Amino acid sequence: MSINSKSPKSIIRLENILIIGNGGRENSLAWAIQKKKLVKKVYLIPGNAGSERINKCERIKTDINNKKKLVEKLNFLKIDLIIIGPEIPLANGLADFLRKKGFKVFGPNKDGAKLEYSKSWAKEFMKDANIPTANFWKVNSLEEAKKIIHSSKNPLVVKADGLASGKGVFIPDSKDECFRAAESIFNGKFGNSGNMVVLEEKIEGPEVSVFAICDGKRYKLLPTAQDHKRLNEKDKGPNTGGMGAYSPAPLITEDYLDRIVKEIIEPTIDELNKKNIDYKGVIYFGLMITKSGPKVIEYNCRFGDPECQTIMPLMDQNFVLLLEKCSMGKLTGDEKINTSDKVSGCVIATSKGYPHEYKTGLPIKIGNINSSNCQIFDSGTSLSKNGELLTAGGRVLSIVCQDKNFDIVFEKIYNNLKEINFDGIYFRKDIGHQVRKNYSKEN
Ligand code: AMP
Repeated sequence: MSINSKSPKSIIRLENILIIGNGGRENSLAWAIQKKKLVKKVYLIPGNAGSERINKCERIKTDINNKKKLVEKLNFLKIDLIIIGPEIPLANGLADFLRKKGFKVFGPNKDGAKLEYSKSWAKEFMKDANIPTANFWKVNSLEEAKKIIHSSKNPLVVKADGLASGKGVFIPDSKDECFRAAESIFNGKFGNSGNMVVLEEKIEGPEVSVFAICDGKRYKLLPTAQDHKRLNEKDKGPNTGGMGAYSPAPLITEDYLDRIVKEIIEPTIDELNKKNIDYKGVIYFGLMITKSGPKVIEYNCRFGDPECQTIMPLMDQNFVLLLEKCSMGKLTGDEKINTSDKVSGCVIATSKGYPHEYKTGLPIKIGNINSSNCQIFDSGTSLSKNGELLTAGGRVLSIVCQDKNFDIVFEKIYNNLKEINFDGIYFRKDIGHQVRKNYSKEN
């Protein structure tokens, strides 16, 4: 939508879409959105080398922090809808700014993004709304932390309050480790994100991701997913941004989802309304399924990665219309999330050394890929001067497939991975082990 196009016609103008972000998540969103005939062009700022391989997609070099230039560019491109992928621009108020300039935006304003950028605020929010979550204590100093850690029966989970690229959570085995984690946060390991620390009771159970796309008042749920955060097989090793995922999560039956909706999703939407937060975007509910029921581990104000790459291929061409309706506050509640009858899986190919130090700029060779209901979404790639695909991140490629069951899905994914190579490529071979019948037989 150009700034001045306030005519009713603008409601169906959906030719030019902009996606902000540079990961596998944004590429999968672009891929899902370009399916709609109405959409002529999908721009990505900045995107990555894989964005250009997606139909109708083009990368734009404009710096999102240069607000004047950004608005000029978006008007020039006649952008009809903007989707903001990552949390940092949302936490910095980019959605507020673009809305004020008259653009339709999918992504919450700064007040809504607080669900993710302040863990202490999110915990208070849940307390206000009686939403089940682990017991917690907010502390402003190491002294305070020490008292609580020592008086608690078991070692507590230690979290930096602010954004820390998924690295600000510690799950210590001893009180001494808890203390050292709190000390490292207060000593500035995460800069200002560690001005406050949240201590939490440790809870147990499988984790599941639920996504609600919201228009400020109403919401629609996307298929559930489960991801694998640990680097190594058998869910061991350090936490990463995500090594793979599958969707939907069979663990969540229809009845259990109803319970999650009643106890968590609806109270969250109601509380946002109560606090006058006009949330237009996706809420990610990171849940733990405990013996006493579902509990919120965390909220994110954006699609999870790699869950997004996993779920997007299950969406039909009208997905972009839903995002547009959310951006305009116009969900009716009767929309169908037309998901396919297939299931989907994703395995992430990473650089050697990730999530710690790793090399970039290594040539990627992609051989004979099965592309029937399979996608490769680049997570961290670049192009050399002569057009060769290179590694450019810790997480390099998202290998995704859909089929009628998870055994076939993961067989296809791992066959495709045999055709992909770069120096030091690493991926887990047990992604989706919980839902692969053949995997349990073989292992
Ligand atoms: P977060 O960034 O808050 O999602 O935390 C990252 C991971 O730490 C989660 O996916 C959980 O596996 C784990 N975690 C966080 N909080 C708790 C908790 N209170 N009890 C047990 N595990 C937790």
